[in-house]
Amino acid sequence: MATTSRSQIWHERAQHSIPGGVSSPVRAFNSVGGTPRYFVKGEGSRIWDVDGNSYVDLVGSWGPMIAGHAHPEVVGRVRSTLENSFSFGAASPGEVELAEEIIRRVPACERVRFVSSGTEAVMTAVRLARAATGRSLIVKFAGCYHGHSDALLVQAGSGIATLGLPNSPGVTVGQTQDTIVLPYNDVVALDELFSLRGDEIAAVITEPTPANMGVVPPVPGFNALIAELTSTHGALFILDEVMTGFRISRGGWWGKYGQAEGWTPDLFTFGKVIGGGMPLAAVGGKATVMNILAPLGNVYQAGTLSGNPVATAAGLSTLELCDEELYRRIDFLAEEIGQGISSALTEQSVAHSYQHAGNLFSFFFTPQGVENFAQAQQQDTQAFSVFFHALLEHGVSIPPSAFEAWFVSNALSDADVAQVLDAARHASRAVK
Ligand code: PLP
Repeated sequence: MATTSRSQIWHERAQHSIPGGVSSPVRAFNSVGGTPRYFVKGEGSRIWDVDGNSYVDLVGSWGPMIAGHAHPEVVGRVRSTLENSFSFGAASPGEVELAEEIIRRVPACERVRFVSSGTEAVMTAVRLARAATGRSLIVKFAGCYHGHSDALLVQAGSGIATLGLPNSPGVTVGQTQDTIVLPYNDVVALDELFSLRGDEIAAVITEPTPANMGVVPPVPGFNALIAELTSTHGALFILDEVMTGFRISRGGWWGKYGQAEGWTPDLFTFGKVIGGGMPLAAVGGKATVMNILAPLGNVYQAGTLSGNPVATAAGLSTLELCDEELYRRIDFLAEEIGQGISSALTEQSVAHSYQHAGNLFSFFFTPQGVENFAQAQQQDTQAFSVFFHALLEHGVSIPPSAFEAWFVSNALSDADVAQVLDAARHASRAVK
């Protein structure tokens, strides 16, 4: 057994200063049990904890580290930027360059406003949609996670699903009374809602493929139906690409699938990869909608550190590494790892559903495929916990929750993949 004594000491110490010892709940290992590792170093495909254990990293900071940790080009760009200043709180060239790069990659996104987290990006998108339409209702899908703003913390995925909470105390009825939650992939429910209340709906927000209840691909035509219904009824379509943006392809999910299917959202939200591991996110979309933001329009939104030069430097140099070759490679790696783990589980007759959308994937310990949140909640989370700890013991770090996607980076080597698959064979025997 690898020693974790120093992580334990840090975790005990952290209890006295940070609630639960963590800055974000899912890191606490609440649902899988045991001691969270405290990390001090990342390089390429690997991370090291305070006890000196190293792990192949399949979390990648929940998505941003697509090129691997401490990539020399990103480090170089960040270093030369911060030698000049950490922050001006004023306009700087890096934010313009990053906005231009996003627009080049996602032409349907005509304007971009930077913020510091995906939560903020979504908050702004919702405010914009309400202001643009003069309506209040927002439609979301159960199991999708759009950050922790009050209006969207209803039947949400990610940490709130991991902890088994339906919603959060502290969010008033008033704050969620204009949020309608539908089951994901339910074409009939969506159609019915629009026929009944279409003229009250400001926006439908969705992950293009939910990956915060585990990975649940859309049924064919689901995103296109959202686009059609919102456009017919004068509502806006907010595509939350915080996770999928610039991870699924050069142009995100929309650039790979949406554009080809012929639908276009009104607003996008981005985060994770566009900050290369720094706190940076963005809301973007049609110029007609985006230009109602202050100072051009009167919809207010702001941020002391928004468009921070160090963060935009990290984002720009990360995006420069994200060329077609990178996407070909991470798609290949994700499939090799996903299929390999699925085979290891099958060999041990462990019931599971290996689900993937682009290079995002996860495993549900359940015999049936999962199409919505209610089905995701039926999975055997105890089996997941055993699997998780066996992988960790064999030097592979995956998200400490059965309701999260796994993330590959371009830094993974053949030896890393071999280690992951070997660990998966041990873990499959442990679950059996
Ligand atoms: N939207 C989606 C789809 C996400 O996956 C997340 C975070 O995981 C968010 C929004 C919130 O982003 P942040 O954690 O940066 O606030």
